[in-house]
Amino acid sequence: MPEPRTLVWFRADLRVADNPALHTAAKRGPVVGLFLLAYEQWREHDWGHNRLRFLLDHLSALSHRLAELGIPLRVRTCDRFADAAQAVLRAARDEGCDAVYCNREYEWNERQRDRGVAELLRHNGIEIAGFDDQVLLRPGTVQTGAGGFFTVFTPFRKACLKLLADGLPQPLPEPAAQGPSIEPTALPESPPDFPGADADLSRFPVGEDAAHARLEAFVAEQQVDYAARRDFPGIDGTSGLSPYLACGAISARQCFDVGAAREPFDDSTFLTEILWREFYRHVVFGFPHVCRGHAFRRETDRLPWRNDAEQFAAWQEGRTGIPIVDAGMRQLLATGWMHNRLRMVAAMFLSKNLFLDWRLGERHFMQHLVDGDFASNNGGWQWSASTGTDAAPYFRIFNPMRQAERFDPDGTFVRTWVGDPSAPDYPRPIVDLDASRRAAIEQFKADASS
Ligand SMILES: Cc1cc2nc3c(=O)[nH]c(=O)nc-3n(C[C@H](O)[C@H](O)[C@H](O)COP(=O)(O)OP(=O)(O)OC[C@H]3O[C@@H](n4cnc5c(N)ncnc54)[C@H](O)[C@@H]3O)c2cc1C
Repeated sequence: MPEPRTLVWFRADLRVADNPALHTAAKRGPVVGLFLLAYEQWREHDWGHNRLRFLLDHLSALSHRLAELGIPLRVRTCDRFADAAQAVLRAARDEGCDAVYCNREYEWNERQRDRGVAELLRHNGIEIAGFDDQVLLRPGTVQTGAGGFFTVFTPFRKACLKLLADGLPQPLPEPAAQGPSIEPTALPESPPDFPGADADLSRFPVGEDAAHARLEAFVAEQQVDYAARRDFPGIDGTSGLSPYLACGAISARQCFDVGAAREPFDDSTFLTEILWREFYRHVVFGFPHVCRGHAFRRETDRLPWRNDAEQFAAWQEGRTGIPIVDAGMRQLLATGWMHNRLRMVAAMFLSKNLFLDWRLGERHFMQHLVDGDFASNNGGWQWSASTGTDAAPYFRIFNPMRQAERFDPDGTFVRTWVGDPSAPDYPRPIVDLDASRRAAIEQFKADASS
């Protein structure tokens, strides 16, 4: 009998340590890695240039790590998810694999793709197994008393903490080398153009080791002050782990493991934020209509969003005349990342003060963020637009000027990104904050009573 060989299909899990699919496959016998470049599909999913670049750099780093372990990585282009089943079957046959292992993805299109792949492989006598990797707790296992999915974060968190109290999921070690090291796989040199500017991603060095170094340094030096510092965009008070979590260079389990050694996991603001990420993953799984362009609260799809290409462009380019909004939007264009407080401020400004459809903003963020992640981005936008789970109540609209006073009190952040907002060439506000706030509340009220 030939030794069983397993094809490990990498997706949003570009690491060798704590990778359940890779770990389990390596215990079974020799492993071959596979990655499918789904350019067209990613474009449809509004991926931008920064996210693509970061992913390809991590794919290259992964191919080096795998090569050190003697594991080859095959990289193939398969533009659309609909063609994935044939591509995976072909790769499994080419490599003489009798099983395909992968870590689950929870968004609707990804689940449809995986269903098709599983059917075709089983039909052809190839075993397929999926593992839960992106989450601490499998979607569907954190339930309300009535047995449904949570739609409010606080009780979701409580239920998670109760389950996690039985034992935190332990990160898995990287697999043992399966032979002498081999040549790493070369990646395609010129991937197609994607939307978005070429941002300066130097804050995010590439690789699993870089992700770990960041986690360790954050936990050692900043985690205990995180609650006090995380809301101030002018200081480096957050972990900066989001791009690594998005492409899977680090896992939520690893963050919990290291973070919980520093402070109790059930009383940690940092780990609570990791649970927000978890929450939105459970939401996309439990309420797949959010993956298909709908508001979580479907009745809010009737809101009469305005159309104003000029105002939208001003928002995109950071020239709304509201300094804190413009500073955040310029940070996004220049660095591919935006501070969480400003994501909320900019998103509320677009959806409430400009009363433009939140989906336009969701798309723009996705096209520019290096950490672009459907579940967290959609969740954040729907929170800000008051259309989502546990959303901000529609009448509680941030005043961006007050937000700036509270969270950028000496104006450091604004000065960094827009210079002097009192200078004559700085734009005048494109909207009256008070009047537009009142108008938005009236629209939401009318919608609620119709
Ligand atoms: C409108 C809007 C859009 C967003 N889009 C994205 C996105 O595309 N990708 C993304 O990863 N995050 C998104 N977020 C969430 C949050 O802003 C970022 O995760 C955070 O700013 C990343 O920086 P950090 O790693 O330094 O976070 P930290 O403050 O150090 O938090 C640690 C980790 O917890 C998770 N996290 C923190 N806050 C949230 C949150 N509100 N929701 C979900 N997870 C969270 C992230 O994985 C983050 O890396 C969005 C938030 C809003 C309001």
